[in-house]
Amino acid sequence: MFKVGITGGIGSGKTTVARIFKSLGIPVFHSDDEAKKCYSTHPEVRQKILDFIGPDAYDTDDEPNFPLIAQRVFTNEALLKQVNALIHPLVAQRFESWCTENQKTAYVLKEAAILVETGANRALDALIVVKAPEQLRIERVMQRTRQSRESIEARIRQQGSVEEALKLADYCIVNDGEEALIPQVLSIHAQLIERSNTPR
Ligand code: ATP
Repeated sequence: MFKVGITGGIGSGKTTVARIFKSLGIPVFHSDDEAKKCYSTHPEVRQKILDFIGPDAYDTDDEPNFPLIAQRVFTNEALLKQVNALIHPLVAQRFESWCTENQKTAYVLKEAAILVETGANRALDALIVVKAPEQLRIERVMQRTRQSRESIEARIRQQGSVEEALKLADYCIVNDGEEALIPQVLSIHAQLIERSNTPR
């Protein structure tokens, strides 16, 4: 199974780009959604999150309080590391079993906000990075959510520079609102089909 990662900072447009690949028949694994599911489906995760963050981490219906969890972890680097160490291995396991369920296509796509920083890219065969100017990213996220400019800027700083990911990228997609996305995706799709057929 040829595995391709797609990453990019908050608001860069990686989900939008992944959707175009999906329309071409490519299965997409959304790591951030899978990570969120772990909070409800793994009792040991629930217990540890309660230990790390406190009783407010889950609401009265026992649903994770993601805005509060995000606010705590993105302002506390040590806590963020603890939570990542808990969740990322579970997402990695889920991705491996998902791959065995999706073996019919030339390649599969793993979308994640953070790939290179966790070393998850090492288990992938190719990496796509989506990039967009920072101000545009902030405006897009402000339009989509009620978050303040300050909290989005804090998240961008916490995610770190996209430069590291770009150094390791096989393909870069520019999503600056000017360069058309579909031709960029079609070109990479054709190259990935070619590569996935080539013995490694
Ligand atoms: P996040 O990490 O926050 O999930 P993301 O990188 O997955 O962000 P998207 O969700 O794809 O980014 O895009 C952020 C917002 O910007 C969405 O509302 C999306 O519809 C919009 N957007 C993305 N790309 C474009 C574009 N080329 N033109 C217009 N709107 C766009």
